[in-house]
Amino acid sequence: QTSNVWNFGPGPAKIPTSVLQRAQAELLNYNNTGMSIMELSHRSKEFENLNNKTQRDLRTLLNIPNNYKILFMQGGGNTQFSAVVYNLLAAKRHQLGEDLEEEFNPPLDYLVTGSWSSKAAEEAKKLYDNINIVFDVKKLKGSYGSIPPKEEWKLSGSKAAYVYYCDNETVNGVEFNHIPEIDPSVPLVCDMSSNILSRRFDVSKFGVIYAGAQKNIGAAGLTVVIVREDLLIRSKIFDNKNSGIPAIPSMLDYKVMADFNSLYNTPPMVSIYISSLVFEWLLELGGIEAIEKTNSIKAERLYEAIDNSKIYKSPVEKSVRSKMNVPFRIQQEELESEFLKGSIELGMLQLKGHRSVGGIRASIYNAMTLEGVDFLIEFMKEFERKHC
Ligand code: PMP
Repeated sequence: QTSNVWNFGPGPAKIPTSVLQRAQAELLNYNNTGMSIMELSHRSKEFENLNNKTQRDLRTLLNIPNNYKILFMQGGGNTQFSAVVYNLLAAKRHQLGEDLEEEFNPPLDYLVTGSWSSKAAEEAKKLYDNINIVFDVKKLKGSYGSIPPKEEWKLSGSKAAYVYYCDNETVNGVEFNHIPEIDPSVPLVCDMSSNILSRRFDVSKFGVIYAGAQKNIGAAGLTVVIVREDLLIRSKIFDNKNSGIPAIPSMLDYKVMADFNSLYNTPPMVSIYISSLVFEWLLELGGIEAIEKTNSIKAERLYEAIDNSKIYKSPVEKSVRSKMNVPFRIQQEELESEFLKGSIELGMLQLKGHRSVGGIRASIYNAMTLEGVDFLIEFMKEFERKHC
């Protein structure tokens, strides 16, 4: 709890107070260098150590196997929307072999469960013409809030260069409760920007996982990419100007980033530093298993408060409700602005729903305490008593 506010922001989001205090204490003199982390060279021994330690701690937290590389990239989730297209088309081209005779045009499969996966698919369409929308919940149902059963998915099978999905839709509050099962020869690509580090999952099921830092990892500026090593192998054909396939811009190239240990250019050093403190905080708490327990309790209490009330409603089907972003509406929608005003007066900030959907949204990432969630629930009950 920083001063007297509860920050329910969707990202940038609350950072653990102890992390901010440590960053403050170390701001003028990082690790006895006499300089701030902002002033150090990214080629210095100190930064190299920090870079490696931050990767090691993330590997421990998520139990990342040795055949995966951790990359520290820039440009946020939005940049990854294009990076995955370039990199995984290159990997697919390599997989098909140098003497491929037919035209190279594999489908890219997208599961669209909310506004972020929709944006990712739109961005991919700018770069490539064979995008297969496996399903788009908004087109099927009129709005996001559910995931169709597997029998209804129109996957391309082994032909696809990858299958893409967003594990937790930050705006719509839709979270997968399982890892989608796909053809094992096809890499699964996942946007975990808003739920990475919130619960345990099996990294080995994925080809690529990426996440912007500004929710559960730390401060904006850093995007963490976890990529399986075999996807970094580059076909010679791909680098041939006459192949008809565009070469990958270096800053988007996972292989370049891996070869340079994420030090190809000047990295977002402050953001990497804050992440290292967040990872240490998580390890001290007992790792992902411990935070996962608290996250479940927080979400259960909040959804229970919504479901047991006469005025609040959740727009999301129970089985796919997000444990990180909890959107809800008030039956009489005109009361929502009064609710938001009242919440701000009590120090509960950034509860307004995303501008594209309206309503209220409580983002309850790792750094939001149970106490903060209980405070919100009390306010919700009080508000209901006043209006019932
Ligand atoms: N994916 C998800 C799930 C997100 O929540 C966000 C941002 N809120 C993005 C992608 C885009 O991230 P950025 O703003 O870092 O580009």
